This record gives sequence, structure tokens and C-alpha cells, in this order.
Amino acid sequence: MECCKQLTKSPNSPSPFFRIIVLDYYDGAKAGILQCQICSSVYKFDMIDWDEHQDIRIFTLSELPCQSFEILISICQEIEKPKWPQWVINWQPNNITIDKRTQKILDLAEPITMIVVSTNLSSEIIGATDVTSPQIIHDCDWFSYFNLK
Ligand SMILES: [Zn+2]
Repeated sequence: MECCKQLTKSPNSPSPFFRIIVLDYYDGAKAGILQCQICSSVYKFDMIDWDEHQDIRIFTLSELPCQSFEILISICQEIEKPKWPQWVINWQPNNITIDKRTQKILDLAEPITMIVVSTNLSSEIIGATDVTSPQIIHDCDWFSYFNLK
């Protein structure tokens, strides 16, 4: 297994993301935060595209302070017990204060540094690339870029 920092050089590798907190879910993870098993780096992830079957998903990654992961665990534990590798948070309508505290953590994210392709972020990373300029994120056709068409 490669560290998250090596993913751009090794397509189709087992995922190093061993703990994922899923904050938005639709037939799979759409947004949340995750942690690398090798270097413990923590990232915020957001889905920006998916294929017509919603299986192959394109995500942005932006780094968060390392302690963000444990802080978010302690907040989400007020809702339910952690479940790994993917803990899908089952939001309740009365979770507004939890929601606000979660947003504060997400607001600390650095600019997006990586795009990753995956059908399941905790099992396999199909492809990854560094993001060198912010405008490429939404301008690029990532399915063509990664030869997925
Ligand atoms: Zn790593």
C-alpha cells in the first residue's frame, strides 16, 4: 500500500485511506474527511463528478490539520458510535450545533491539492493527479483525463 503522497505515481493501488467519516452520502461517499494510514495526513474530500451509473466518482482532496480527524470523531460520537473504515453519519434534524462545529473544522481546509478517482475511497484508488491551478478542477473533463470513457 502506498502513502497518499505516492498515489499520483501509482494508479490502481489499494487505498491508504483507512478511516473515512462520510458527511454526505448518495449510493456512496460524496463528501467528508479521511485519513492516510501511512502518514496520518487528513484531507477533506468532495465529489465533483461521477459516471452515469454513479459508481466511478471523482473527488477533490484538500489537506486539513492532523488533529481535525480526532476532533470530528468526538463531535460525531454524539450522534452514534464510530464505524471503520467508512463511518456514514446519519444526520438528524436536531443536529444543528453539531453541523456548525463540523463546518468550522471543514473551513480549515487548505486549497485543493489532489484529484482522486475511486469507486470506494476505502478500498481502491483508480487514479490520482496533483492540482496545479484552481481553475483546472472544474474545467477539466476528468473522465477523459483518466481514460475512463
Ligand atoms: Zn499518506
